[in-house]
Amino acid sequence: MKEIPEGMWLLLALAETDEDFANLEKKYGKLGGGTGDVSIHDLRAIDIEILQAAVRMSMHTIGKETRDKWDPQLVNHLYKHDEFENDRNPKEKAIDSLLDYLNTGLRFEEVIVQAEWEGAGIILKPLTRTLIAKAWVQLFDAMTDPIPWKICEYCRNPFPIRRKGAVYCSDSCRAGAYKKRKGILK
Ligand SMILES: [Zn+2]
Repeated sequence: MKEIPEGMWLLLALAETDEDFANLEKKYGKLGGGTGDVSIHDLRAIDIEILQAAVRMSMHTIGKETRDKWDPQLVNHLYKHDEFENDRNPKEKAIDSLLDYLNTGLRFEEVIVQAEWEGAGIILKPLTRTLIAKAWVQLFDAMTDPIPWKICEYCRNPFPIRRKGAVYCSDSCRAGAYKKRKGILK
């Protein structure tokens, strides 16, 4: 099983077809916990919809200035201009919805926290068992420390832009792209 990428919350928000979800599960593990009588397909339909709505809300709450630093491919996919068409105070509505979704998602996907001693004090670390639970924690982190995101030109996974001009998510993708270029040039 591969390590869960930092952008799992965006990968799940972008996934559309059953095949997309099956591929993510194959690569990274179980999507949701399930209660035994809910099939993975049902789980997807309900819980993914809530997560996807929460991610869309997060695009409203981060505001235009931050959104402009994002990859337009991601913004076009996630930011629906007309979502609050009939609302007088769209930002407030988006914040309310996002908090609602976050609280519901974190609780429903059974994210629990563990206290640990780190450096000079005690911190809380979230514990997750499934991909969707991890995605909720990632969304929470992304909202507390908003960083622009981009799609890797080699593997197509979203990654946070920490260095200006970065086009690949990792050293291995940079190397892969280099090899591919060399292969084509030969
Ligand atoms: Zn990559």
